[in-house]
Amino acid sequence: MHTKTVRDYIRTIPDFPHEGILFRDVTTLFADARGMRLCVDQLLAPFAGTRIDAIAGLEARGFILGGAMAHQLGTGFVPVRKAGKLPGETFAQDYALEYGTATLEVHRDALPAGAKVLLVDDLLATGGTAKAGIALLERLGAEVVGCAFVIDLPDLGGRAALDAMGMPVHALCAFE
Ligand code: 5GP
Repeated sequence: MHTKTVRDYIRTIPDFPHEGILFRDVTTLFADARGMRLCVDQLLAPFAGTRIDAIAGLEARGFILGGAMAHQLGTGFVPVRKAGKLPGETFAQDYALEYGTATLEVHRDALPAGAKVLLVDDLLATGGTAKAGIALLERLGAEVVGCAFVIDLPDLGGRAALDAMGMPVHALCAFE
């Protein structure tokens, strides 16, 4: 019998990308056939019965999850990309990083106004990336019905920030 949970498939690499950081590596989860299926099924489970017109994924690991989730649900997939990658007309949103800022973009015609979207990424830390993604999708006139993550790092405050916005957040596991 399988007793491994999604969390058990995640590998921790110390001192990546900087000294003192414990990087939560999901490649070991994605590479495992059972882990990948478990993860996609569990990301979608609480949204059964909720109307979802599209999955939006945050670059880059949100693309891997979001593509599989869209296939399972029978919806389309919308990439929220780092600046300069999308070829068409875009909306752009800056957000804060630990050092400096970064920019995310979405195609202006990615979704029709009123579309109900589920946003996905591998990990929620400060919530800056997710909040930028939500802001972009809302600029399209879409409604973000929830955010799904494999990992929550609650000490970094992203969960609390999204909760304060009234955004439904679903995370499969947490690391202190
Ligand atoms: P936030 O904007 O919430 O502070 O950071 C979340 C973003 O950083 C996500 O896009 C996530 O992929 C990335 N990230 C930060 N730390 C880690 C980590 O330890 N493991 C993984 N897989 N992604 C991380």
